[in-house]
Amino acid sequence: MWHSLQADFPQQLPLTDFERGPLRPQPGEPVALFHWGAGRIQAVNSAEQQLPAWLEPTFYNPEKHARLVVMGRWKERLLLIRVATPAEAKKEDWPGLRSWLLQASAEEFDLLATAAGLASWDEQHRYCGRCATPTRPRNDEFSRECPRCHLRHYPRVAPCIITLVWREDALLLARSPRFAPGVYSTLAGFIETGESAEQALHREVKEEVGVQVGNLRYLGSQAWPFPHSLMLGYWAEYQGGDIQLEEEEIEDAQWFPLDQLPELPPKKAISRYLIDSFLTWHSGR
Ligand SMILES: [Zn+2]
Repeated sequence: MWHSLQADFPQQLPLTDFERGPLRPQPGEPVALFHWGAGRIQAVNSAEQQLPAWLEPTFYNPEKHARLVVMGRWKERLLLIRVATPAEAKKEDWPGLRSWLLQASAEEFDLLATAAGLASWDEQHRYCGRCATPTRPRNDEFSRECPRCHLRHYPRVAPCIITLVWREDALLLARSPRFAPGVYSTLAGFIETGESAEQALHREVKEEVGVQVGNLRYLGSQAWPFPHSLMLGYWAEYQGGDIQLEEEEIEDAQWFPLDQLPELPPKKAISRYLIDSFLTWHSGR
């Protein structure tokens, strides 16, 4: 038994109440608007207690809402995404996506990640990448189609590996200059085209910290909308080599004894899940 799943970890639970897909609203139907702009989401002070603070309940009005992306149905409302200008999104009541995610329930995390992915897709695929004609959204799937050459443009998902490198008495954790002061985390990197997840894991670990690993164990995945990653989480056992930093990406990396870990990433992140589940498994052996 390698680990037991933690019920509070986002996206380990199948959703029961979110129907994903570009559905068609009817005039006057109850909907909820999600206001997105430049990585921020507006707080809308919902008067309805059942809805999170970032969803504005209203009724569908084709004159105002026809161009908005419909992301699916939740709590008997269609959820619509409005993409605001960066200037509007700079105002005070627009917290960053990260701060909303870190306080979200597992189900809300999924909605936020989906909305962020669809908003950036809608913003970035207005013209065909092959012939530069303006694209149009399809009604039957999340894609924007070119009316001239029929190329379809889908929301992007960028697979990444994220891995906890361990040995019997210590964890190899690293920090990037982008992290909050004092925080160390697991290693991560994008999978290149043509590469398997496992090949990417060996390559990234070697590039970033210079060590060899083996005995890979897949633990689970998490959508991470910065901007549209899918993190595939592994444990990897240390096999040899001394730490050598890739200095452009990694500011520091160290072996931390299991009982002397540094400040770790927040509980909602898969990096933390990889660490916590390892400690649980290790202490139960
Ligand atoms: Zn085209």
